[in-house]
Amino acid sequence: MRTINILGATGSIGTQALQIAALHPRRFRINALTAHRQADALFAQVRQFRPLMAGLTGMRADQVEIPEDLRWCDWRFGQEALLCAARDIPCDDVLVSVVGMIGLPAVMAARGAGRRVLLANKEALVAGGQIVMEACGDEDGSPTLIPVDSEHSAIYQCLRAANGNPYDRILLTASGGAFRDYTLEQLENATLAQALTHPNWSMGAKITVDSASMFNKALEVIEARWLFDARPEQIRVIIHPQSIVHSMVEFADGAVLAQLGAPDMRVPIAYAMAYPERIATGAPRVDFAALGTCAFSDVDPVRFPAVGMAYEALRAGGAACCVLNAANEEANARFRAGGLRFTQIGDVVAGTLQRIGGLPAHTIEQVYETDAAARREARLIMEKL
Ligand code: NDP
Ligand code: MG
Repeated sequence: MRTINILGATGSIGTQALQIAALHPRRFRINALTAHRQADALFAQVRQFRPLMAGLTGMRADQVEIPEDLRWCDWRFGQEALLCAARDIPCDDVLVSVVGMIGLPAVMAARGAGRRVLLANKEALVAGGQIVMEACGDEDGSPTLIPVDSEHSAIYQCLRAANGNPYDRILLTASGGAFRDYTLEQLENATLAQALTHPNWSMGAKITVDSASMFNKALEVIEARWLFDARPEQIRVIIHPQSIVHSMVEFADGAVLAQLGAPDMRVPIAYAMAYPERIATGAPRVDFAALGTCAFSDVDPVRFPAVGMAYEALRAGGAACCVLNAANEEANARFRAGGLRFTQIGDVVAGTLQRIGGLPAHTIEQVYETDAAARREARLIMEKL
């Protein structure tokens, strides 16, 4: 029996993790669940999974009426709910599946309490980088951080199949998002509704827009750098529209190991939850004969400048990756609120990096300060657009 606390339980990743838990009731017990403001969805989850604690991070106690049949549960509110679920409620694993940099304090709190972190929240790693990795070393030969992001789960699985041999290169695949075949002119007039129609994956709104702008892949390059201790030039992004090859790793002898499967997040979520075992997920199987073709190509740096910015930020070092993430979060949110054109997301991130990309990030406090400064700078840039 593994006990798991889920942060961001009502989201795309959180609900799929609960589907896995429901498939294997004797293997997983859920001790804590958090949502931000979707109280009714959380109430239904609490009824089904009966955690010790439940929290609404975006609400105050006086804003919510807890249903009478759920008052046995320990209810928490605001930011404290996130930290309580990460740190105070006993468990083996904490699945960090909230969206945005708010996941960073949760990851650090979970590690501070000795929990294993199952990490969907890539923003925490992009912003926290080395500080997060230092908190996540192996303990007694067991990992304390397992990636949930599908590409990184794929790389992780390939590396485990390599018997400790070092790799030469990571080949990080990308679907290309909703706008893969858009012209520059079409990108300039792209709408939110268009950005939200991802060809292969059904995900939360922020990451779906990130996929369309390819800032998702930019974040993933940085995520791979930290998870696998890779130099930037060891990571190559490859467009693969079918999303069947979830990523690949190349070795000294020229051999390439890949992890394949249907584009279904339940597979990498279940891999992290049951690690090192493999369990049923309910995901569909790939019919390779019906699929016919798998295509691969390079990213177009003119239409999708985001990926290049990730490499620049990695080479710049310091807090540049934290700045990239914060500016992107602000610009992504402004685009979703209707206050920014699609192609301006990249302009805002590039402008913010140019102005304050050189700030330091040696301590966690500096990371939070840089994050706040980058958000202020990005908002200033957006006001002038
Ligand atoms: P969703 O938007 O679907 O869900 C986000 C979850 O976090 C919800 O439970 C939401 O609560 C909660 N939440 C939102 N804002 C806050 C906040 N400020 N503080 C605390 N909790 C908050 O996101 P996804 O599930 O798509 O993504 C979650 C993370 O996983 C992201 O970092 C994403 O990049 C990563 N990821 C997602 C993939 C996917 O397939 N979806 C694939 C790979 C990575 P409420 O419902 O109440 O708003
Ligand atoms: Mg991914």
